[in-house]
This record gives sequence, structure tokens and C-alpha cells, in this order.
Amino acid sequence: MKTELKIHAPDGLTRPFLIAGPCSAESETQVLTTARAIAEINKAIIFRAGIWKPRTRPNSFEGMGAPALDWMGKVKAETGLRTATEVANAHHAEECLKHGIDVLWIGARTTVNPFSVQEIADALKGCSVTVLVKNPVTPDLQLWLGALERVSRAGISRLAAVHRGFHPSGLIPFRNDPMWELVIELRTCVPDLPVICDPSHICGSTELIPYIAQKALDLDMHGLMIETHCLPSSALSDAKQQITPGRLKRLLGTLVYRSSKPPDAAGMDELEQLREAIDKTDHSLMQLLLNRMLIAERIGNYKKENGMTILQAERWNNLLRDRTDNASLMGLNGEFIRAVFQLIHRESVRRQADAMHVQSEELTC
Ligand code: PEP
Ligand code: MN
Repeated sequence: MKTELKIHAPDGLTRPFLIAGPCSAESETQVLTTARAIAEINKAIIFRAGIWKPRTRPNSFEGMGAPALDWMGKVKAETGLRTATEVANAHHAEECLKHGIDVLWIGARTTVNPFSVQEIADALKGCSVTVLVKNPVTPDLQLWLGALERVSRAGISRLAAVHRGFHPSGLIPFRNDPMWELVIELRTCVPDLPVICDPSHICGSTELIPYIAQKALDLDMHGLMIETHCLPSSALSDAKQQITPGRLKRLLGTLVYRSSKPPDAAGMDELEQLREAIDKTDHSLMQLLLNRMLIAERIGNYKKENGMTILQAERWNNLLRDRTDNASLMGLNGEFIRAVFQLIHRESVRRQADAMHVQSEELTC
């Protein structure tokens, strides 16, 4: 998956960086009280607060709008924290630029809409603002990348992605499904792109926030965005998932910050040796796989010469059961080995079908 993003890590952000603040800016007092308490912890560098709120149903609190921009200015002047808010259209983006908001984020409901993202990108053309792009509500990596690319093409290079989870398809203990594999894929596609985790919107309640925050750090994500409110029980949006500044401080004290690099040269040597051992093992595995495929081809030729079908369902079922049973005895995960052998078998059938000059699709569909 090729992408053309030009990235500069957001200015002066040492990892892991923290963005904290309420879901919504509700009043000048709420904004300033929360910001002062967050600034006192001395860990956050960006203060967030939603000014225009995308709500699922009308008649919910839809944000205080433009007057709240001045409150953000006061936060910055008084605490030195940089300010961040959500923009969903060109008007929001222009208002934020006029009021010196440092960081704009594109919300999950906006990332799904290329027209809206383009409109925002056009409004930001040539500006030096930092833009965060939240993942789309649906688990679609292309949409997420597309939104990042639209912003990047407008000349914004201070870019980061925010992982806030995806609309769940089944019963899970979270408001949004983390689907970590998608974030790993994003990071593989764009290794230079900072990715910030938003445990608040993943969890939807406060209890599991430490678990998700720790997991994000363990996956070497670049920062955290945590909804923090001076009085969560009275919050006008997302009341169940916001924590107090005091709780934020305790959470930051319990998180374990691991390094992605070994501590010293000796550790480096040990890691290098282990990696060499992994590389060797992988090459042996691939040689074994090739041997297996060559045997499968010989079986294919035998079947062809003797007028036999490629698939003998009973043999395949017995093989799969044997490998899965053995996996457990050997200390391997049975489900994992089942999946591996299903893949191997698919490739064997394809090779046997080639040997018989038959399209494998016709046989396996
Ligand atoms: C928010 O950050 O308050 C918000 C609305 O986020 P999301 O777009 O992730 O739902
Ligand atoms: Mn929120």
C-alpha cells in the first residue's frame, strides 16, 4: 500500500506525549479549572477541548462554538499548554487559525467523509498548524490514509494519527473496538507517522483506560490523548469516560514506560543474537515449506497420471486434526496451527491444480 505522506513529527513533542482535557469546553470556569489542574501535573503538553461537538442525535449538547475559542486562548496564555480542538468543516478550521489554536484534530465521523476532509485541508493550505487525524468510525485503513494524504497534500507536514477504536461489530467490553492490528498496519505503511492512542474513546468508561493506555505504550505508540474533566459527573458529553486531573496523575504514575531500544551495548548484542537466530529459523521454515510444496507437486503429478481428484476430504480432515492435536502437545496454540495449515493447504492445492492445468479457483470455490 503506497503512500506519499511527508511527515515532520509535531514540534517539541518528546515521546510519549500527553494530550489531556475535557471532551467539550462547557464554560470558561470549567475549561480554566481543568487546564490549571492538568498543567500542575506537569506531564501534558497539549490541552484538548471540543468546541463544536459532532453528536449522534440532535438535541444533545453540541458544543459552545466560537466563544470557547477565547477560553482556549486564556488557557494558553496562563498555563503555557498548547491548545487542540476538533474541526469538522472549513469554517471551524478558519476560526481556529484566527484564534491561534495550535493543534486541530479531524474527528472519527469526519475522517469517513473525503469531501469534508478535503474542505478542511483546503482551508489549511500553507499553514503551519499541527493536524491530528482520528481513525474513521469504520475499520477502513484506506479512508484513514486517504484523510492523512489529503491534509499532507495541503502542505501540512506536522501530522499525526489518533487511534480511537472502531465501531464494534459484536459484544466487547469497550465502546469502540481497538483492532490493534489496523494500527500496526498503519505504522507499517507510514513508519514515520506519529500515532497517538485515545483510550477514553476506545473504553467509553473509565475502568479500562489504564489497560488500554498501557497496551498502547507497549506497542510503542507515540502518545496518549485522555479526556480529563474537573468534575466528570457533571460533564455535558462523554461523562462516563472522563477522569479527574487527580486520577490522571495517578494513572500516569502507574504506567510503565518501556523503551523500544535495548538499555546498553550488551543488551544490544543479546538482542542481535536472538534476531539472528530468528532469521535463521525463518529461513529453515521457508526451506521446509518449499520441500513440502515440491512433495505436494509430486503428489499432484501422481494424481494426474492416475486420474485422481486433487482433494480427498477425509485425508485433509485427518491431517488437520493430527496437526492441531500435536500442536497442543508441543506447546503451540492449536488455533494458530490450524490457521497456518489451512494456508499451507490452500497453496498446496493451488500448486497441484497448476500441475493438472486446472484453475485452483474453480476447485476451491
Ligand atoms: C472527541 O475527541 O471528543 C471526539 C468526538 O472524538 P471521536 O471523533 O473520536 O469520536
Ligand atoms: Mn469525547
